[in-house]
Amino acid sequence: MTGSPVLRRYAAAVADAHAELTRLDQVSGDGDFGDNLRSGLERVLAELAGSPSPEEGHGFDVAGRVFLDEVGGTSGPLFGLLFSEIGRALDEDPRAGWAAGTAAGLAAIQRVGEAEVGDRTLVDALAPAVAELGRGGTFAQAARAAAEGARGTAELLARRGRASYVGDRARGVPDPGAVGVALLFQALAAGD
Ligand code: ADP
Ligand code: MG
Ligand code: MG
Repeated sequence: MTGSPVLRRYAAAVADAHAELTRLDQVSGDGDFGDNLRSGLERVLAELAGSPSPEEGHGFDVAGRVFLDEVGGTSGPLFGLLFSEIGRALDEDPRAGWAAGTAAGLAAIQRVGEAEVGDRTLVDALAPAVAELGRGGTFAQAARAAAEGARGTAELLARRGRASYVGDRARGVPDPGAVGVALLFQALAAGD
C-alpha cells in the first residue's frame, strides 16, 4: 500500500470523473484531457506502490516528475509544475506546505502558460483556492473556492489553449482543466 492519501483519493476521483472530463474536453478541445489526467495518476500510483516512502511530499515529487516527463497534452506539463511545487513544499512542511506549494505552482503555471484569471483555464480554479489558503482558509474553503471557480468558467470565452479556437461553442460547459484542479482540492479537503 502506498502512502499519499491525497494522491490516492485524487486518482480515484479522476477515474470516476473520466467520462465527464473527456466530454468537457470534447466540447472545448480535442477530448484527451480525461485520458491524460487519469493515465498520469495511474502511473504515479504504480510507481509509488514500489516506493519505500509513505510521505505525501514524496508522492507529489513523483507525480511532478511523471507529469512533466511522460504526460501529454498542455495539461501534462502544467499539472507537472503544480505537483512538483506541492511536493517540494510538503517535503519542507507537510501541512503548511499546501499554501506555499499551490501558490508556487500557480506562479510557475502562469509563467509558462501566461493565462490570467478569466481566460477560461485551470488557473480559474487554482487561483481562488490559492488565495483562500493564502488568507488562512481551511482546505474545505479552498475546495469550495476551486469548485466555484471551475463552475464559473462555463460563462467564459477561452483566451488560452485549444478552447480559444472554438469560440462560443464551449459556452455553458466548464473548462476541463479547471474541473480537474477542483477535484484535487476536494481530495485534499476530504482528508480533514
Ligand atoms: P490539449 O489542449 O493540449 O489537448 P489537455 O486536454 O491535456 O491539453 O488540457 C486542456 C486544459 O489545459 C484546458 O482545459 C485548460 O484548463 C488547460 N490549459 C490550456 N492552456 C493553458 C494555459 N496557457 N494556461 C493554463 N492552463 C491551460
Ligand atoms: Mg485536450
Ligand atoms: Mg491534446
